Amino acid sequence: MICLFFCSHTISPIVEFWLVYSKEKRGGIAAIVPRNALISPPNNTFLMSLVVVGTMAFDAIETPFGKSDKIIGGAATYIAWCASNFTPVKQISIVGGDFPAEELKALTDRQVDLAGVQIKADEKSFFWRGRYHMDMNSRDTLDTQLNVLANFQPVVPESYQDCEFLMLGNLVPAVQRSVIEQMRKRPKLIVMDTMNFWMETAMEDLKKTISMVDVIMVNDSEARQLSGDYSLVRAAATIMQMGPKYVIIKKGEHGALLFHEDKVFFAPALPLEEVFDPTGAGDTFAGGFIGHLARTKDISFDNMKTAIILGSAMASFCVEKFGTDRLRELSSDDIAHRLNDFVQLVNFDIKLY
Ligand code: AMP
Repeated sequence: MICLFFCSHTISPIVEFWLVYSKEKRGGIAAIVPRNALISPPNNTFLMSLVVVGTMAFDAIETPFGKSDKIIGGAATYIAWCASNFTPVKQISIVGGDFPAEELKALTDRQVDLAGVQIKADEKSFFWRGRYHMDMNSRDTLDTQLNVLANFQPVVPESYQDCEFLMLGNLVPAVQRSVIEQMRKRPKLIVMDTMNFWMETAMEDLKKTISMVDVIMVNDSEARQLSGDYSLVRAAATIMQMGPKYVIIKKGEHGALLFHEDKVFFAPALPLEEVFDPTGAGDTFAGGFIGHLARTKDISFDNMKTAIILGSAMASFCVEKFGTDRLRELSSDDIAHRLNDFVQLVNFDIKLY
């Protein structure tokens, strides 16, 4: 029974990848993978863009295998680098005068619109320092300096108003909410990410924002903290009662779960020989997930399953180098091959009779 259940909920999107991948190999029209080829929408439909809100920051990271000093990070940075493989991105964030101009240019070169990014010349950018444990799955926050984020009042530019997809990256919950409230027409899909920091410092505010979104993504320990329940199935049910119709629970190297009503879908993470730096993997996952949905404009549960596989594939690149380094060098071929690795990982046939 369990096997049948697993099969019926996993194989179809994965087969879809396989078909797409093999189609591409045969020189057909690729339907999933990105950039040059896939930045254009399927069926020549008009391409609606995606609004991304979140931090653009400096990070300092320590892992058991290395240490970085002040590198570029931030939730919205990772989301933009990833999602821009699939759809144009309109970014909302804030940085200080210390944020390198060439970093902003690198994003605009990828069709990331920065009209909604405020630059406070006399202030410092958000800074986060974290240290990973030996398992590379858990980490401690050693320092969070809000700096420009402390007084951030986002302004949604007029040119962003037509966006159908809104990705609220990890950020002050009241700021996330302010962006929703500024959209004159409610986007077709609002996805939010958050973290334990906001559960500890702004829980009531966080719950207000959660009540306004369609999809929430958290990691397993955050799901437990938010719901007060150890069982992830019950935690997801409790979180759905707070408002979102879909709950995604990320489990690091153990994959991700998607819950909707009484349905659940599981996508594994790709077993990698070496994980160099897990920072930004969650945001990259979010960028792949929303990037695929925005490109296809299909928000069905089945398409969300595909989006989760795509998010997992993109996250598997992120961890291979420090910071955003690996995301910057990706080609559409790299992504197609990685998707095929996923197909090989989970595609199996089972006959019980
Ligand atoms: P992830 O590893 O995907 O959970 O996200 C890592 C990114 O989150 C880093 O690049 C940090 O700059 C950013 N970050 C860390 N703490 C916070 C926070 N409290 N609010 C918003 N972004 C944060």
